[in-house]
Amino acid sequence: MNRLGRKISRLIEAAGPLSVADYMMQCLFDPVDGYYTTRDPFGAKGDFVTAPEISQMFGELVGAWLVQTWREAGMPLPAIVLEIGPGRGTMMKDIVRSIGRIEPDLKAAVTFALVESSPRLAELQQAALAGSGGRIGWYKTLDRLPDGPLFVACNELFDALPFRQFVRKDGQWLERAVGLDEVGGLRFVTGTAPLDPAALAPEAKPASEGSIFEIAPVRTALMTQIAARIASQGGAGIFFDYGHLETGLGDTFQAVRKHRHEGVFDNPGEADLTSHVDFAALAAAARSASLDAHLLSQGDFLLDMGLLERAGRLGSTCDDRARAEISAAVERLAGPGGMGKLFKVMAIFPKGTAVPGFGKAS
Ligand code: SAH
Repeated sequence: MNRLGRKISRLIEAAGPLSVADYMMQCLFDPVDGYYTTRDPFGAKGDFVTAPEISQMFGELVGAWLVQTWREAGMPLPAIVLEIGPGRGTMMKDIVRSIGRIEPDLKAAVTFALVESSPRLAELQQAALAGSGGRIGWYKTLDRLPDGPLFVACNELFDALPFRQFVRKDGQWLERAVGLDEVGGLRFVTGTAPLDPAALAPEAKPASEGSIFEIAPVRTALMTQIAARIASQGGAGIFFDYGHLETGLGDTFQAVRKHRHEGVFDNPGEADLTSHVDFAALAAAARSASLDAHLLSQGDFLLDMGLLERAGRLGSTCDDRARAEISAAVERLAGPGGMGKLFKVMAIFPKGTAVPGFGKAS
């Protein structure tokens, strides 16, 4: 067992089992050995590749979406363009460039804001954005942002926020926790805390013994906070992640290291821990804050936003090899065998606003 594993094991020995949410937080954000606090996990040499790291086209189209949404909102200024959880800063860099190309006056007047909980990743973001031009600032939390309409984009943020699991046992939903086996190793145990019946989606009720149900109050709380801010000061939001459009049963807790799945207890702090995002729950949170929420697959959204046209334009000025790379990127970002179907996008905006990119929304 590695150092963080031993630390977690001692913690459980002293204080009892940890919820899945607490285990995830320890692994991702332990100040000494946490995954996001110590590593740059992105890209071919890291553990996983995210959409903005596949191609500049992704961030550019998000930038174009933000400009169109800002125009729909009546071009308010001052305004804020925000990314939460920006990783290496690649998407924000592409957003800033794309906004500067489409609407230079907006780039000159807007505040580009980044909220990042890992100091190590915030440093990488500063390096990535040096020389981008524009007014760019880092903020510890959402409530420290300047006032004004907020146009926010996030990629793979919500899957990295903690979630809880419940197991069906003797007709009850009991919280799943992380405890110890006979030799001090980590294993799942069933705790005694029952699920608040109000949190149970109706479709999850007829469940067989051993079924798993996941909830993520931290994700819902963040969405509620973003939506409340947009409802009171204007703006819009767009969120990409892998997940499902309808709440359902199932264990989606996963660990990924060096582009492979592994057990969630194999290498604490050395693997990315995530679960699928329940977009139905996030949409409900946005709607409770009286915003509209639209959901779509990532592939349909990117095609509607002009991915093929952008690829064609980029390809027209490069050689055959670069052109082949651009087509491969289109396939990965939007194809059904890539991220096109598994990844979803949710847009939130004040009621009655027209939403770009959701022409194919059902
Ligand atoms: N958006 C990037 C990175 C995704 S990984 C990309 O697509 O490549 C998740 C990111 O969210 C990391 O930067 C991580 O440090 C950050 N993060 C996780 N929890 C956070 C929180 N509560 N507030 C702000 N950032 C957070």
